Amino acid sequence: DDEGRVFNFAAGPATLPASVLKQAQAELYNWRGSGMSVMEMSHRGKEFLSVIQNAEASLRSLLNIPDDYAVLFLQGGATTQFSSVPLNLCKAGDAADYIVTGSWSDKAFKEGQKYCNAKVIWSGKSAKYTSLPQAGESSLTPGARFLHICANETIHGVEFKDYPTHLGDTLLVADMSSNFCSKPVDVSKFALIYAGAQKNVGPSGVTIVIVRKDLLGNAQPITPVMLDYKIQADNNSLYNTPPCYSIYICDLVFSDLLEKGGLEAAERRNIEKAKLLYDAIDSSNGFFKCPVKGEVRSLMNVPFTMETAELEASFLKEAAEQGMVQLKGHRSVGGIRASIYNAMPRAGIEKLVALMKSFQARHSS
Ligand code: PLP
Repeated sequence: DDEGRVFNFAAGPATLPASVLKQAQAELYNWRGSGMSVMEMSHRGKEFLSVIQNAEASLRSLLNIPDDYAVLFLQGGATTQFSSVPLNLCKAGDAADYIVTGSWSDKAFKEGQKYCNAKVIWSGKSAKYTSLPQAGESSLTPGARFLHICANETIHGVEFKDYPTHLGDTLLVADMSSNFCSKPVDVSKFALIYAGAQKNVGPSGVTIVIVRKDLLGNAQPITPVMLDYKIQADNNSLYNTPPCYSIYICDLVFSDLLEKGGLEAAERRNIEKAKLLYDAIDSSNGFFKCPVKGEVRSLMNVPFTMETAELEASFLKEAAEQGMVQLKGHRSVGGIRASIYNAMPRAGIEKLVALMKSFQARHSS
């Protein structure tokens, strides 16, 4: 654009709303008359406390989080939660089930094996992670403490639209890193939701955990203090120095989402944006192909392929020349991947679709 900004289709860290970046820029040197940058503030001072409290209040309002859930702003990325979840929810040796729908849930399972008796009860690997379990295709291990799912697989582009039900006493845990705050979610269906911030809500590093309060306080004795949810909750996420600046950016993003109509409105925008792109793929007579089946396609990460690696390389090159960047598929799957999180404007997708059409016209025989 005229400010030299590109359309950034990266899977994460991802693009942030322009209005948020501009507000942060205006407040960088002297935050709201405090004479300091948020980066320079005491995390226990009244200024920063107002930031983190406002961030929590806005997130509670966006997601309608019930009062019996704690909201934690932690560090270490979603990857750290792969260990924290079993450490806090299981005794060593407890059974825990994993539905593996792509690379991220596979990583969560592998880490979980260290701290509980983790079992894969459904895997999409044989279909190259292009599908999700259908009703009746998986059954829980008797006594399983929790069932872990990845709500949206960032690399493979499959997203749960409905969540597993009839779990009895088994707790539902979801990694929502890549679709967090992209749509409304009934938090009460989950025992625990976690998300790295760097796709829809802020800078990498800060990690949000929403956990039912009655589950706190039973961490395994070996749990590192930083990973113990009870200690973090008792200290309002201020047990040690938190990632203050990153939490401040999350606060701005949450306010921005609220101003733009909340998560119902965000979902409407995301459905429209994703439809533009999937329609372009599906109406290309096979020139572009999306391996993921219709009903489980992600609204956030859209993978697609072309006939040859040469065509893909030349498409990526033209896209970059036009200011559309980070469209290369993950190194494990190749092809193209357009990540179209909340902050990707519709104009970015319209521009991508225009290139797809002109590229196809020039390369079809
Ligand atoms: N889970 C999902 C769904 C992800 O997309 C990612 C990162 O891309 C992770 C977990 C790991 O997140 P982090 O890099 O914050 O540890």
